[in-house]
Amino acid sequence: MQKTIPKRKLDYEQMFKATIERDKEFDGIFYVGVLSTKIYCLPSCKARKPLKKNIIFFETRKNAIFKGFRGCKRCRAGYFPDESPYWFDSVCTLLKNEVERKLTEKDLAQVASVNISTIRRYFKIRFQLTPLAFHRKLRLQYARKLIETGEKYRSVSSRCGFRSSSGFRKAFTKEFGLSPGQVQRVQ
Ligand SMILES: [Zn+2]
Repeated sequence: MQKTIPKRKLDYEQMFKATIERDKEFDGIFYVGVLSTKIYCLPSCKARKPLKKNIIFFETRKNAIFKGFRGCKRCRAGYFPDESPYWFDSVCTLLKNEVERKLTEKDLAQVASVNISTIRRYFKIRFQLTPLAFHRKLRLQYARKLIETGEKYRSVSSRCGFRSSSGFRKAFTKEFGLSPGQVQRVQ
């Protein structure tokens, strides 16, 4: 069943419940620090759970490290999510190869054979972007390359899967701090 990640801030009891249930959906959303050992874990860690009084929660890994906690060797909390999930390569390949059209979340879920919420969550944690925003960045980089190699920027917009040239101009300028026309002129 698809679970949605709560957008609001989690309270202590919610985090405690996710920890006891070893709920994978919360990995990367918060970290579980064990006061008696100064080790931090992912909520889903298979190790025996500490007593409630010994648990402290961190919103980010950085906070845990800052407080002197070390990553658990068992759940490899210190490396999460740097080790890519098995579906990541197939999604990345699709995103990189299809820079001439706008992909949908359905395309991604299909090639990965996982739920789109899993893909979204992983991208959010790893890149602070949705997968589609990530893809738009790739299309904009491709567009810039085309312009730099002499293609007229007016035709580049549709070639890179943008529906309107004004939307393209706006996104391009936001991404590079230069409009497509400016990039073309410096060539
Ligand atoms: Zn652990």
